[in-house]
This record gives sequence, C-alpha cells and structure tokens, in this order.
Amino acid sequence: MFKLNSKIAHLTPYTPQTQDYAIRLDANESFCALSDTLKNDILEQISQLSFRRYPDPNANALCKAFAGYYQIDPSLVTAGNGSDELIGVIMNAFLEKDDTVLTFDADFSMYQFYANFTQSKVIVESKESDFHLDIDVAIETIAKNKSRMVIFSNPCNPTSVGEKREDILKLIQNTEALVVLDEAYMDFWQETLLHEVENYDNLIILRTASKALGLAGIRLGFAVTNKKLTNILKAVKSPYNLNVISQTVGTCLYQQKDEINNAIQKIIISRNELYEGLLKLAEKFPKKVEPLASNTNFVYTKFENSTDLFEYLKAQSIIVRCFGTYLRITAGTKAENHTILAAISSFYEKVG
Ligand SMILES: *Cc1c(COP(=O)(O)O)cnc(C)c1O
Repeated sequence: MFKLNSKIAHLTPYTPQTQDYAIRLDANESFCALSDTLKNDILEQISQLSFRRYPDPNANALCKAFAGYYQIDPSLVTAGNGSDELIGVIMNAFLEKDDTVLTFDADFSMYQFYANFTQSKVIVESKESDFHLDIDVAIETIAKNKSRMVIFSNPCNPTSVGEKREDILKLIQNTEALVVLDEAYMDFWQETLLHEVENYDNLIILRTASKALGLAGIRLGFAVTNKKLTNILKAVKSPYNLNVISQTVGTCLYQQKDEINNAIQKIIISRNELYEGLLKLAEKFPKKVEPLASNTNFVYTKFENSTDLFEYLKAQSIIVRCFGTYLRITAGTKAENHTILAAISSFYEKVG
C-alpha cells in the first residue's frame, strides 16, 4: 500500500469559504477597483497577446515597471506568482534538511507552512507583550541555533506593528543568517529597506501587488535582493511561473504612479476611520474593545468574548479573521466600516 510521507500526511487543502459573506474584511484585500480607463487599456493589451507562446520567464517588462515605481534597479527584482510562491521558492532553495529557521509569533502563518516542506527545524520565538520584535534576543537566538534563515513581516500581519529601519538593519548586520523581510504592507508605511539590498549579502525583501495595489486575484509578488541572490532565485524558480496575463496587468498598473498613490491614500483614510471608530467603541465599552494602532490596511483589536463576536458578525454575513482573543479587520469601504462598527456595538449592547 502506498503511504504518504510524514511531512505531508497531516495536510488538508486550504479552503477559505469567505466568498459566502456579504462583507469580506478577512483577507486584507483592497476595496479600490482599478479605474475604467486603466481597465480598458489593460483589456486592450491582453487582446493583443499571443496565448500560444510561453511567457517571458524573467518577466522583464513587469520587473522594469515595478522597479520604476519604487525607483530601484530592475536587475535586482525577481517576479513570482504571488509572494507566497516566492516564500516557497526561497525556503526550498536556501534551507536544507535539519537547518534551523527562525520565525515569530504572532506573524504570517505561511512561513511555517512552507518551511515544513524543507524538513528544516522551525524555531518560533514569541514577541514581546507590545508585539514588537526584540532584535537583540533574535540575534542571540539565531547565533545559538546557527539558524540559516530568519523570516518575518514588517509591518507585521496580523498585528500591524512595525519595526523601524535601523532596528531591522541591526539584525541584518549582526547575523550570518539570510534575512527574509516580508514588506507586504510597506506601501502603507515608510520604513522600507528596498534601497539597501545591494549593501548586504544576506537580505531578501518580499513585496506583493495583492494588498495596496489591489491585484490579489492576479497573483504578483516580487523578491528584491542583491545581484548574486537574484541570479540564484531566477535559477531555482520554475521558468514560466508567471503567465502573460498577470505580467501584462502588472506592467500596466506599476506604470500608473498616480493611480497607485491615490488608492493607497484612500485605503489609509479608510483605515484611520476604522481605527477611530474602534477607539470610540473602546470608550463606550471599556476593557472590551482594545484596538492597536495600525501601520497597514487592517486593524488588530483585542475583544472581550472575541470568538462569540466573530460568530455574531458571521451570522450577519460579515467575515473577519479571528486570532484567539484578537480579531483582524481589514479596512473596507466607508459603508462596510460603518456596518461592522455598528454590528460590534450592537454585540456588546445585546450579547457580550
Ligand atoms: C498577503 C500576504 C502575503 C501574500 O501575498 P501574495 O502575493 O498574495 O501571495 C505575503 N506576506 C504577508 C505578510 C501577507 O500578509
């Protein structure tokens, strides 16, 4: 009889059922749609594509547009089918069996998921009570375990807490491990290290078009690192990882600086409204609602009876993400923010 090996035997498919909800604030997607002009321009370009030809394996036009928007050197950019794919590629390439890799709790759960396939040993370090990283402790842990890699998001998903540039640089400068810095939400904050990658031999930065740029369905992620590591990433990824349609959509959007920046501003305004609404609820229901300040497009909030609140919202067709005593709520449209804030208020008036 064929037997599954132990690294996969316990796995089940990832099957979120969030499509069933009227208000979806669970996946940190953007609520901004592309302008009609840009959408028509993209559709026109797609109609010119030759579908029978393989795509450009290095997605050169896309990497150039991405690099243009962020003002970096395009030869330092590798494109992937979402940054999720790149996390898998990076772990498979840079980790060997029994290597140790350092991650943190709370942080993005996919790091442990992909590390699992490499048969490396994952060390999960708890964060301080304010959800900040303790950089000195991280440096020590890496040294003690001879970790080959450390991976984390900045600002962090799910907490939205951010670390300053100089603190991350201290980590990079004081370790021999590869630092994989996931800047999925850095479009909402200003502490990027994109312009530093050439100064270090051990830094890979991940970016995505899924959050600020509103292209989660198109699947576009990017790794930015020095030339040596870029060559390796391009050598180990699957050659045609990014289809022509995604490449075309991304190339068009990254050339639209104003459209991107306007969308980011709108999202930040919505995020502030959501946060301020939660602060008002915190005043109204002391100790029951405790939102954390946000550097991203979502707000992480400690709620009394969080799981009951989560179910209460679901019953009203509102879906968010539940992390124990915290809920992570993505900033939505004005109307969506208003609806969820009213629903939370009615929960504590009636139930909680
Ligand atoms: C959403 C998210 C990603 C995944 O982005 P994709 O490009 O859609 O795969 C990666 N890292 C973090 C921290 C995220 O929150």
